[in-house]
Amino acid sequence: MSDHHEVVIVGSGPAGLTAAVYAARANLAPVVVEGLAAGGQLMLTTEVENYPGFVEGIMGPELMMRFRDQAARFGTHFITADADSVDLSARPFRITVGDAALTADAVIISTGATARMLGLPNESRLLGHGVSTCATCDGFFFRDHDIAVIGGGDSALEEAGFLTKFARTVTVVHRREELRASKIMQDRAFANPKIDFRWNAEVVDAISDGKLAGIRLRDTITGEESELAVTGMFVAIGHTPTTSLFAGQVELDTNGYIVTAPDSTQTSVEGVFACGDVQDHSYRQAITAAGSGCMAAIETERYLEANKPVVAHS
Ligand code: NAP
Repeated sequence: MSDHHEVVIVGSGPAGLTAAVYAARANLAPVVVEGLAAGGQLMLTTEVENYPGFVEGIMGPELMMRFRDQAARFGTHFITADADSVDLSARPFRITVGDAALTADAVIISTGATARMLGLPNESRLLGHGVSTCATCDGFFFRDHDIAVIGGGDSALEEAGFLTKFARTVTVVHRREELRASKIMQDRAFANPKIDFRWNAEVVDAISDGKLAGIRLRDTITGEESELAVTGMFVAIGHTPTTSLFAGQVELDTNGYIVTAPDSTQTSVEGVFACGDVQDHSYRQAITAAGSGCMAAIETERYLEANKPVVAHS
């Protein structure tokens, strides 16, 4: 493998791998720096029932394996390591992975985001077994359940509202007695008879019999502990986009997400495109990430075509 490539894709969730499928089929011989934790957030998911085409549903890791196989089939090269540094200030762009330095005429950033978790001992183990970070993805599995939603921001109230379509009861557990969410979201939540609130409460334990069976709460004022009998817990305390490699190089918004031009994946640096959750704090779905990965590959192809004579190879 030569060190110079037309396009290097950093990140290997649905966005990056879809970009790879399209770029590979456009003969761009993409390299995907897939990271040590390859595959993105779907690797932490159990069943995915809303990815079109999979009528019976598919397990998240298997879906990502299929994305990867499809990208490999058309000649995508994978580097299974984390990118250590990226230099977008000069052309060709430079990506350092361990001892290797790759250069590229175009870069597609698809490093995703991670849902913030509470840090409870068995929280990650219960993901897909009563604990979730995505109501749109998993709400359907919680028909007639009693559910807790943790957080007090717009995400928490949006998830709580969505979950009332399925759940018997939804209890929003917030660590303060004042919500961070916008007024309109608060008004909607207060008016929803299925939503209840537990104020000044933090989750100290997830009770499990294999699946989630309840949560233990501590009153942040009195210190008193109590149990809430729920079989679902949706953690909605925000997401962290994976953008530390790019800070100071491409424009980020105040929450750290990469800013892309409207209706485009173009970042503030020409020839650098961003797709998926790293630039989307609104939809965060595998299908929307895949869609924006497709956009990024097509925009990359057009950029490379338009800049062929001027792109300098090292
Ligand atoms: P956010 O606004 O940062 O809110 C996070 C919430 O989680 C806060 O209430 C925070 O409590 C709580 N929290 C944080 N860490 C916690 C912990 N360790 N334990 C317990 N609680 C914790 O995040 P977000 O709700 O995901 O929203 C992110 C951005 O997207 C915001 O700008 C939001 O307006 C936007 N958004 C908009 C919509 C919409 O308009 N439809 C929907 C979703 C998101 P404190 O309040 O005590 O800090």
